[in-house]
Amino acid sequence: MDIAQRTPTPQDLETLSRQLGRPVRDVVEIGARCVCGNPLVATTAPRLGNGIPFPTTYYLTHPVITAAVSRLEAAGVMTEMTERLARDPELAGAYRGAHEAYLQARHEIGARSGVGDVPEIAGVSAGGMPERVKCLHVLVGHSLAAGPGVNPLGDEALERIAEWWTRDRCYCDGAWDVQGQPPSRDLSRHTKTQGLAPEELEAKRAARQARPESAAAEPAGDRPDPTNEKDAQ
Ligand SMILES: [Zn+2]
Repeated sequence: MDIAQRTPTPQDLETLSRQLGRPVRDVVEIGARCVCGNPLVATTAPRLGNGIPFPTTYYLTHPVITAAVSRLEAAGVMTEMTERLARDPELAGAYRGAHEAYLQARHEIGARSGVGDVPEIAGVSAGGMPERVKCLHVLVGHSLAAGPGVNPLGDEALERIAEWWTRDRCYCDGAWDVQGQPPSRDLSRHTKTQGLAPEELEAKRAARQARPESAAAEPAGDRPDPTNEKDAQ
């Protein structure tokens, strides 16, 4: 999309908050649009207005796509993909390329939005990239924003939701509440990562740390990291 299409209008921001059921903050661009023009993906600055680094640049907002991707996750697709990454070097290489592309896109978005680079999250992308699949919503959001051929597993997930959503059609009618006032107060008090609010992530971490035997059984690379939303499922 060109810059005019990426720039969020007041109407876009209202649609986003209706899609998500909460006000949006720190959205600097629209990452992808429906054929009708409605937002599919919100692009968030790599540093929030409150100063917090934010690695998840692309947030899937369209309820039809979000629900379809959740069905894939519930069916165990993330585990299956992670296993394939471990034994398919070609796929693993392409997925590493997606990770690099994500970082590059975030760098460009930081520059365009005036936020600049965010050293706290340098090298940290999202969704489990580059070695695992931890959130399919993140990968699909990336694929929709970047276009086909950049994120192989996001592209594959899009193919696998084709019975519920395809790029060439509008699925907006009835997909979110268009009556009344848009949500104007952020009841969660925090900007959510894809799926979980920070306090929910913190609760998950605390629960994990309270079980040292299970934490010790995890590989070192799987330690919870406050700058990475990879726990967000
Ligand atoms: Zn539409």
